[in-house]
Amino acid sequence: MKKYRKEDQYYEDQYDRSTIKILKEMEGEIKAKGIPLNIATDPLNPNLSLAEQHALGIHYRDKGALRAQNRKEAIIKWKQEDEYKDRLIETYIPPKKVNCKTCNARMELSGHLFKPDISPVLFVFQCPLEHKPNKVLFPDGDEYFFPKRKCEKCNGDLVSSSERKETVLICKDECKQCGHIVIDEYDLTPTEEKPITIEDRKKYCEGFKNSKTFTQSLKDIAELAEQLKVHQKETEIKQEYNIDQIEKPTIPQVEQRLTKLMEELGYIKFQFGKPDMGAHVIIEFSVQDPTNRSDRESEKLLIKSISENLFPTFWRLMKQTVSYRLGYITGKVKCYADDGGLLKIGKEIKSVEKMDSKINIENQ
Ligand SMILES: [Zn+2]
Ligand SMILES: [Zn+2]
Repeated sequence: MKKYRKEDQYYEDQYDRSTIKILKEMEGEIKAKGIPLNIATDPLNPNLSLAEQHALGIHYRDKGALRAQNRKEAIIKWKQEDEYKDRLIETYIPPKKVNCKTCNARMELSGHLFKPDISPVLFVFQCPLEHKPNKVLFPDGDEYFFPKRKCEKCNGDLVSSSERKETVLICKDECKQCGHIVIDEYDLTPTEEKPITIEDRKKYCEGFKNSKTFTQSLKDIAELAEQLKVHQKETEIKQEYNIDQIEKPTIPQVEQRLTKLMEELGYIKFQFGKPDMGAHVIIEFSVQDPTNRSDRESEKLLIKSISENLFPTFWRLMKQTVSYRLGYITGKVKCYADDGGLLKIGKEIKSVEKMDSKINIENQ
């Protein structure tokens, strides 16, 4: 028995063939209304509103975009479904010795039905002389009977018959109760699928690759606008607090700067320890005070002078860490280099500037 899983190309062709058919039909409708496919370049239909002409074009392009977007997933799904069918027919063995009710000939397995709610697989057997009906069997050999169809008008029982006229199969359902008749005709001409032309594939399938639907594009624009707004807000804050003007000295520059400051105040041997490179850089320092200042005075002077000196930079003294013992002082400085940190520094500088200008005005 033939396998269900086919070559990869088969699934791609199936999908593309269907896409081409759908889009060609839509295109036909649009053209029939006298609307150009490309509203931007081709003359419009003067009898229809612009909105209407736009809507049809959008509908067409949306369909193309969606078909292109869903292609990969749909093809994977089809392949998986067929692979699953192959696993089922490998797992379940068809019943043997099935005979035709009419001529008692041994029937041949002609296909499967997959009805998961009834049985993972059902086997369809055919009489070699084509006597009807076919037999549908469960894997254990029991026969499966399709539910009886009922009259759509009165729910009465139906008498069904079929007749083949050359390549057309005519099926007739007649209601025993009300006489309602339904006739269905099926074209049995073997349809050989024509190969897909390069032009069609290019225009209807590849042409929509990576394109977005109208709604998706609108969403993109909205998101972009939102991003711009956030960016603008950030820029405004940066400007308001002069973030770009905050001094950003490196570790050796800060060390030099503080060494000089400390020496001017009579301290000696200022030096940095190894920096702690966490989310914020924190560095321990040590310095010695050989003067006769008291511990309190020494600590106070150090805190005040270092804090003032670092104020215009993105470095801050961690005041709580400063400790004095027998002329030997340790403490830590911290760097606020991230956006949040810079904003905090910017705000501090701005608030002091405000206060300064207030004091200046009052002093004038
Ligand atoms: Zn038979
Ligand atoms: Zn009826």
